[in-house]
Amino acid sequence: MQLISSQMAKYAERSSWIRKMFEEGIRLKKEFGEDAVHDFSLGNPDLPPPPAIKEALADLAAQADQPFFLGYMPNFGYPDVREKLALEVSREQGVSVPADSLVITCGAAGALNAFFRAVLDPGDQVLAPAPFFVEYGFYAENHGASLITVPSKPLSFELDLEAIDAAITPRTRVVLINSPNNPTGAVYSRDELEGLAAILARHSRERDRPIFILSDEPYRFLTFDGVEVPSVLPVYPHTVVCSSFSKNLSMAGERIGYALINPAMEGREALVASVIMANRILGFVNAPALAQRLLGRALGSSVDVAVYDARRKAMARVLDAAGLRYTMPRGAFYFFPEAPGGDDVAFCATLQEEKILAVPGTGFGYPGYFRLAFCVGEEVIARSADAFVRAVARAS
Ligand code: PLP
Repeated sequence: MQLISSQMAKYAERSSWIRKMFEEGIRLKKEFGEDAVHDFSLGNPDLPPPPAIKEALADLAAQADQPFFLGYMPNFGYPDVREKLALEVSREQGVSVPADSLVITCGAAGALNAFFRAVLDPGDQVLAPAPFFVEYGFYAENHGASLITVPSKPLSFELDLEAIDAAITPRTRVVLINSPNNPTGAVYSRDELEGLAAILARHSRERDRPIFILSDEPYRFLTFDGVEVPSVLPVYPHTVVCSSFSKNLSMAGERIGYALINPAMEGREALVASVIMANRILGFVNAPALAQRLLGRALGSSVDVAVYDARRKAMARVLDAAGLRYTMPRGAFYFFPEAPGGDDVAFCATLQEEKILAVPGTGFGYPGYFRLAFCVGEEVIARSADAFVRAVARAS
């Protein structure tokens, strides 16, 4: 008897590499002890939320006896939180964003799904540069569409604009970019964004449905060496930004984020209304009440970026000592080095034997490389140095 849908049965067979590594980590830590394992598999922020969250929680606890304190609110979120969020994203994006361009969602994942529900018809294509965040494929398929990927330029992971241009078909509805990027740490320059916008504007002129840029930006706050993340909003009118507070406030479990519909988009009211409705009918209804109230209090604060920067430098020292080739990440908390010998799955297996957990690039649609997440203490990074050297020696 078939209990689950055929599609879910297929998904179950191709269980994610990240999940595999996560489970392997649990097994290794049980067998050899926590300190013997160097787990770089998960992008789960390990820094505590900033103090503003703790203070807000204490204050909010005192209000918990009020009626409707945790009740329903408009599907777009609490109006006062939306207003505050509008000020914050206006500052971040360098563009004046009115509150009615925002929908508060259950994380960036909720925003991606609500937006896809609002614009995708069955058979549409979502085009994303590879390597890509592995959930994108599932999210596109949730809405009857498919994910088409275009490899970015090797090692620098800049957008390959010619290849993107060539991959656009009459069914391309969304180009989904992520900057700062998971898994590469790349940050797209203004030139790259303008180049992409020019291509999409040219294709959109020939059709009655525009191609959207969906810019997934949960790592916008996390850049290094003074790198800025250019806003896509002034570059292309049919842009939607999605983001969350999973990483900058270390609130990944609280499911809070937003979709921002470009105020410069003609007729945007209909799209905003559709995203709000999608948020409702997908069963999210609204973003969690408590997380929204926390956000209203903690907006503008952030975990300490300097801690991630110190780890990034420590990781670079370890990779240099092992002779691995990589591009220094300009943002986010990942390295995406080349796998010695070219076989990323085999190299990750060798790493695993040395009790280092990494995710093969194959899991991100980009074989030949592997991802290391530096959401771990600097001491774990330093401790892994000898194991990296041994793994590279074995692979050569
Ligand atoms: N997009 C990217 C690129 C991510 O790395 C993640 C989470 O790791 C998400 C979206 C989902 O974020 P959220 O937890 O806010 O839904």
